[in-house]
Amino acid sequence: MRYIFLLVSFFVTFSTIAQSTKSFETPYEKGNKNQTATYQETMSFFVDLEKKFPAIIIKEMGLTDSGLPLHLILFDPDKMFDLEKIAKTKAVLLINNNIHPGEPDGVDASTQLLRDLAIGKIKVPKNTVVAMIPFYNIGGTLNRNSTSRANQNGPESYGFRGNARHYDLNRDFIKSNTKNARSFAALFHEVNPDVFIDNHVSNGADYQYTFTYIQTQYQKLGEKLGKFLNEEMMPEIRKQLKKQNIETIPYVNVYGNTPESGFAQFMDSPRYSTGYASLFNAIGFMPELHMLKNYEDRVKGPMNS
Ligand SMILES: [Zn+2]
Repeated sequence: MRYIFLLVSFFVTFSTIAQSTKSFETPYEKGNKNQTATYQETMSFFVDLEKKFPAIIIKEMGLTDSGLPLHLILFDPDKMFDLEKIAKTKAVLLINNNIHPGEPDGVDASTQLLRDLAIGKIKVPKNTVVAMIPFYNIGGTLNRNSTSRANQNGPESYGFRGNARHYDLNRDFIKSNTKNARSFAALFHEVNPDVFIDNHVSNGADYQYTFTYIQTQYQKLGEKLGKFLNEEMMPEIRKQLKKQNIETIPYVNVYGNTPESGFAQFMDSPRYSTGYASLFNAIGFMPELHMLKNYEDRVKGPMNS
């Protein structure tokens, strides 16, 4: 049950995050709400957060193709920070951002989430740790532009999809051609998450919903965990979202189909992040914010439009 509450609170708190304390405003909150924080701004924000709040630490977790290390931000209310012990004794939520840096909504949303956890505005269930990769594709994040996401409604500028060596990292979890993928695999096994969220933005189809999601196919998770996800966790999440007037549906992947003929569910094989996570019994979610909605509404998260 703790996963349900954590996920529900994660999905719905974005809408209240805007009222966070002025003293620790994130770089995104300081801007015009149509700007995503740069790598440098975000990392220096976390350095300040780590200095001020003992439940937050920044860890280096191996190299990426950019030459810079992969970072993990850990929120552990018990201040244990020993990943091996945490993996054995606690529920762990792992959040990944900027695998596709043209889709940076998750960076600005989860920076606010970690801040709100640090200041105690959001409480996690007992024995729960939140781990967050602020930038998975660091090389792409540093390669900023304003034109590589055709028709996307903000932010003003953002990173590029390919990494420092122009690999699409969300196709590399099995091949591991990149240092990013090899460092991620080591990180993933050390952190050993129960629930994994990889934040994305959609690629063109138009519809009403701001917030859609790919949920890993429950059949991949084996009888007990798959049944739990399908029959308990998802219905509860949908019920809680509905209570708050938040409408959401699975990711729309049309490929010429009509609603009458039906849309096939996205098949996340292990070359993708959530498919990789499900190989190791982690429940995977890939939020897909709608690229044609404005950036502020997307960062706020699931809401009607
Ligand atoms: Zn993406």
